[in-house]
Amino acid sequence: MLWTRGSEAAKDKLIMSEKVLEVKNLTYSFNTYGGTVKAVRDVSFSVNRGEILGIVGESGCGKSVTAQSILRLNPEPPGFSSGGEIIFNGHDLMKLSIKELRRVRGQEIGFIFQDPMTSLNPTMKVGDQIAEVFHSRRDLKRHEIREKVIEMMKHVGISDVEKRYNQYPHELSGGMKQRIMIAMALVSRPSLIICDEPTTSLDVTIEAQILDLLLELRNELDTAIIMITHDLGVIAKICDRVLVMYGGKIVEEGMVDEIFYETAHPYTNGLLNSIARLDMDKNSVLTPIEGTPPDLFSPPAGCPFAARCEYCMDVCNFFPPKTYSLVDSHMVSCHLKHEYAPEVELKKPRRHNAEAGSKQAYYSEPVREHKEQALITVEGIKRYFKVSGRAVLKAVDGVSLKVYKGETLGLVGESGCGKSTLGRTITRLLNPTEGRILYKDKEIHSLSGEEENIFHQKVQMIFQNPYSSLNPRMTVKEIVGEGMLLHGLATDAIQDDKIEELLNRVGLGKEHMSRFSHEFSGGQRQRIGIARALSVNPEFIVCDEPVSALDVSIQAQVINMLKKLQEDMGLTYLFIAHDLSVVRYISDRIAVMYMGHIVEEAPTEALFIDPQHPYTKLLLSAIPVADPEVTRNKKRIEIRGEVPSPINPGPGCLFADRCPLATDRCFKERPEQKMVENHHYVACFQVG
Ligand code: SF4
Repeated sequence: MLWTRGSEAAKDKLIMSEKVLEVKNLTYSFNTYGGTVKAVRDVSFSVNRGEILGIVGESGCGKSVTAQSILRLNPEPPGFSSGGEIIFNGHDLMKLSIKELRRVRGQEIGFIFQDPMTSLNPTMKVGDQIAEVFHSRRDLKRHEIREKVIEMMKHVGISDVEKRYNQYPHELSGGMKQRIMIAMALVSRPSLIICDEPTTSLDVTIEAQILDLLLELRNELDTAIIMITHDLGVIAKICDRVLVMYGGKIVEEGMVDEIFYETAHPYTNGLLNSIARLDMDKNSVLTPIEGTPPDLFSPPAGCPFAARCEYCMDVCNFFPPKTYSLVDSHMVSCHLKHEYAPEVELKKPRRHNAEAGSKQAYYSEPVREHKEQALITVEGIKRYFKVSGRAVLKAVDGVSLKVYKGETLGLVGESGCGKSTLGRTITRLLNPTEGRILYKDKEIHSLSGEEENIFHQKVQMIFQNPYSSLNPRMTVKEIVGEGMLLHGLATDAIQDDKIEELLNRVGLGKEHMSRFSHEFSGGQRQRIGIARALSVNPEFIVCDEPVSALDVSIQAQVINMLKKLQEDMGLTYLFIAHDLSVVRYISDRIAVMYMGHIVEEAPTEALFIDPQHPYTKLLLSAIPVADPEVTRNKKRIEIRGEVPSPINPGPGCLFADRCPLATDRCFKERPEQKMVENHHYVACFQVG
């Protein structure tokens, strides 16, 4: 059956098709030292054959616990309690013995986990891991199982299957490992697959391939899919129907177009408003959902969203809202739909404008290059790592760029392209193998003692992972104050005042000073990391994926804060990220990196409106847009081949193997950067 999403016919077909799974009044709680966490509270939904159902919400809203509860993968009593019914193909999974359940897991319901790096067994060949799904099938001979595995590996787009069958997970790329996970989930042709954030750890190009693959498989095999994600772009691209979860409950449910265009719940509306959209005006401010999700130790008596809702009424604090049916497929739990509630128009996000921006306007607008001196100049930087024997990994291989005072230079590219290594080399966390880095025209590796101290004060870094970049044994005061004391910027007497001022700047307070990092949420930890970077009055900050581990509404808070701090303190940023919508919103210029090289560099709008390098075009075409209609009509450039190994790369253009325009010359020579328009540089033989 071929599904055409968004049409009335598709909706009717969906409603008419057979139910594969029905979850009724599911609850799940677990005991901790602090009390009982009520993670999932009275959740009911169903999935039909051939349907892709999205479950979306912030971290801790209960979406993953719900998915795992379906297969009873969560710990069971004592210490944990679960209730409700999970009817799968007519049987209640809650009543099955563990032995019976094992037959369902893998055989009838497949599960794709978030992180293929940790979900595969590193000591087993990948082919054998897929074959393990059939361990209980006595009716199948070994060669029959092998044939089935090989057929499925081909089906999910794995090339050179015989060789791959005998490889171990560490020999495969991230995208390839995720394909192995998908093959494992599909090999027994289950009627339901549960995908828990299957593309969160992948680059946009690989993510686009995996999502297309899931759509194809659904169309071919009529498999039902539950897609759990916090990425609204993924929801818009792949899902037919969506559940929005908050505080362990479903707050809105509807067809994908209803959720995006007829949004009825203030929380869904808040989520849609807080994302950095590709077409956003750079001068606009993101609208985060203020506050934090409810404490599930003692969930609020009334609506779980009441504390953060701008439409909250008295009744919301005392009584949980009923679920109202707007049309047969669209349901919402909100008192605003009560017949006596005041009429309220939600401030809905506007539709995506694919034509936003003007190439002419941008090229004619003077960029900072004219006005300011370069704060950081990178000249022919190489950073190699010896792997073994003669093998050398060329993480950064001859990069030159300038970062001007007061600007944000975005640095984008797939994982492993050398972005973070370049950032670390600029901050001197790593020494370059070759090349020069100048800070205000002085080479940083020949600075004298005092000058070096000033460099370490003025150049700071914000790290990607707020969970591992803060010392768990230090209080917030010690973390933020350490740099000040080291650089002699504060005495013990005035340090507290300065720390308080900094914490206020990043949206925290005096009361947080004596606490440890584990007592904070991810967004708050990232704020502490930012306060630490700001504590020494820096001029230049390398922001290494500072928002990629955060939920969209927290992302919006942190991005707004970084922009405001830049305005107030005249900061300069090198902003490393793989989320191109965020990079477009925050950056003045963007450099695109591929396999240790800068392949294109341009003012932001010029790069998005008029990309020149085939790799940039591919990258931009793969971005999921959080607008179902736009994403449905978006043409994606087909990606050929795999990212090549950066170990002992060949002499030609490193993109040649994947490039549709490659000629013989591209395989023999490496292209140099040349200017194609004002401030727009490209390294490609076919351009200019
Ligand atoms: Fe807001 Fe009240 Fe609706 Fe909850 S029930 S979302 S608090 S208006």
